[in-house]
Amino acid sequence: MSGTSEEYDVVVVGAGTGGAIAARFAAEKGLKVCLIDSKERSQIGNKICGDGVGSEIFDFLKINHPKGEELACNITGVKMYSPNLQKCLTMIDPKQAGYVVNRIEFGQRLVNEALDAGVKDFFDNTMALKLLYKGDMVTGLKVKSKHEGVSELRSKIVVDASGYYSPLRNQVKHPMVEKDLSKADSILCFREIVNFPKKDQLVKDPEYITIVLDQKRAPGGYVWYFPKNEYSVNIGLGVFMDYKGKVKDYYQKYVFNEYIKSPNYEIESSGGGVVSVRRPLWSCAENGLMLVGDSGYQVNPLHGGGIDPSMRAGLYAANAAIDAIEVGDYSLNKLWAFNTDIMTTFGAQFASLDLLRMVLQVLTNEELNFGLSKDLLTEDEILNIAETGHINLSIMNMVTKAIKGFSNTKLLLDLNYLRIRMNEIAKIYRKFPSDINKFADWKNKVVQVYNNLNKMVIHPRNHSR
Ligand SMILES: Cc1cc2nc3c(=O)[nH]c(=O)nc-3n(C[C@H](O)[C@H](O)[C@H](O)COP(=O)(O)OP(=O)(O)OC[C@H]3O[C@@H](n4cnc5c(N)ncnc54)[C@H](O)[C@@H]3O)c2cc1C
Repeated sequence: MSGTSEEYDVVVVGAGTGGAIAARFAAEKGLKVCLIDSKERSQIGNKICGDGVGSEIFDFLKINHPKGEELACNITGVKMYSPNLQKCLTMIDPKQAGYVVNRIEFGQRLVNEALDAGVKDFFDNTMALKLLYKGDMVTGLKVKSKHEGVSELRSKIVVDASGYYSPLRNQVKHPMVEKDLSKADSILCFREIVNFPKKDQLVKDPEYITIVLDQKRAPGGYVWYFPKNEYSVNIGLGVFMDYKGKVKDYYQKYVFNEYIKSPNYEIESSGGGVVSVRRPLWSCAENGLMLVGDSGYQVNPLHGGGIDPSMRAGLYAANAAIDAIEVGDYSLNKLWAFNTDIMTTFGAQFASLDLLRMVLQVLTNEELNFGLSKDLLTEDEILNIAETGHINLSIMNMVTKAIKGFSNTKLLLDLNYLRIRMNEIAKIYRKFPSDINKFADWKNKVVQVYNNLNKMVIHPRNHSR
């Protein structure tokens, strides 16, 4: 740390899944990269998480799939239960199969691969405190090292991959990076990893991750049951943020007590965390800065999965940094390509799923039981929505559902309205302007869709728009 007077091309804050990938791909292309994390090196990857990740991201990045120590188990598909547990949709799609990982081992692998790729300096136990600006351009960071105190790191570009509680996001000067983020767009989680040492309780459906939609037990979120192996499970729940103080009680009563039947168990890990469940920030970039992963609200709003998008965004940030450094232009104008990459790909999917999430969160258990039991959405339709953000229901398909005796016409009409709005917003996102000057018009179109949905279908919970 003492030799920090040198200027890096990129300083990456946070060596989690997003930061490790950004550092790796930037270093691989020869950029002078500094990676910092507030954790001790051996603790990197230690995160309260469901630990589920799809296999697709590893093919997309052309990196090794989890194996050996970092792989807890392979997952074939998802089982989704109605609140009364009478309907189970089993969704199997080879493209969406994946893994439950051992989070520390997985995190350690990603950080080791970043260092092997040529990251110049890695400082653990080092916390980013403050963005340094020269005029309206980010030029580095003030940091505090556990052993060496406060110092400054200078860089052409900073990548903020410091997670949901990023201390840097609120310091960004550019107004396009939102600061008034609503709590209604985040979910509070609590989870434990429970082992059965005496092997007297077998984990249920060990090749599936199981989700239970239930507005009583997990208001606004869901209960999850993710196997790690036949004798170990990651179980938890997510609820609205205003259940703070009650989340652990809900977990104990509705998750632990209902799923852990063996008197002999060992809690391997226990804790809470927060995940955003909305579209990405309006802009995930500023002059000299990009926000990757949770710090940029790049999490799937339907299920809260953020490992895949953080890694995807890590690659996009590395690519944008490489291009910017090649021409010596680190302005927002030049880094805008990072926004374009995000918004036209998973951003489009997430904006669309954000609308679905807002509707799902206000459905009652009765409506969920009814809708699922009557095949309002089938397994294939749900898989398609999850993968693309589109509801591929033709009018004929809707009519067929109506004829099949779907008596709740309000729900059917709401679904049709939602379908139109979801497809509309995904289309708008896919046309995210490559010219920053066209952003305001584009944003107006997006806001209009949210306003329409709010007016027509749901009771708003003060989401940030
Ligand atoms: C309970 C829960 C369950 C989840 N389950 C899943 C799941 O099953 N599947 C899935 O895909 N996603 C899941 N997620 C979401 C997922 O964990 C995150 O989206 C993902 O880890 C985001 O990665 P990231 O790199 O952006 O941030 P993080 O993984 O949070 O990494 C941030 C890094 O930055 C470091 N850091 C923080 N502040 C500073 C600072 N000031 N200076 C320096 N370093 C700093 C941290 O130590 C950390 O290493 C879950 C989240 C929660 C809370």
